[in-house]
Amino acid sequence: MTERTFSILKPDATRRNLTGKINAVIEDAGLRIVAQKRIHMSKAQAEKFYEIHKERPFFGELVEFMTSAPVVVQVLEGADAVAKYREVMGATNPAQAADGTIRKLFAESVGENSVHGSDSQDNAKIEIAQFFTDAEIVG
Ligand code: ATP
Ligand code: MG
Repeated sequence: MTERTFSILKPDATRRNLTGKINAVIEDAGLRIVAQKRIHMSKAQAEKFYEIHKERPFFGELVEFMTSAPVVVQVLEGADAVAKYREVMGATNPAQAADGTIRKLFAESVGENSVHGSDSQDNAKIEIAQFFTDAEIVG
């Protein structure tokens, strides 16, 4: 089924000029980038986005990292886009990520792991709505 997922190219990726290389992996996997913009997340935006992790010990570090440099927020579209993108990203910890995945290729550590992708269709809808209006998504 054609669906949409939300993606972030994180500060470690933009800092190292990896936007194009990561987008190539995304597009080669058959996912279409139907919306994209480069933003500098505010602390409030990052805290809201990662609200589910607010009790975790790494929450402060995560918010600090996500606001440390620009990010690229994206909407990806394709068959089973949520699961497909999770597969393309690889495991959260790059040491455990499969060969050819974005995190295996580019991530620096479990915290600075280059990309975010929604973990369910419900969360994809919520996350897309936090950063994009309907008019900004051109499928
Ligand atoms: P994301 O939600 O960013 O797509 P994920 O779903 O693979 O990643 P989560 O468990 O949702 O992983 O964790 C969210 C993010 O928090 C991770 O991508 C990573 O940046 C950070 N994180 C997770 N675990 C740790 C940890 N042990 N130490 C530091 N940062 C962590
Ligand atoms: Mg997650």
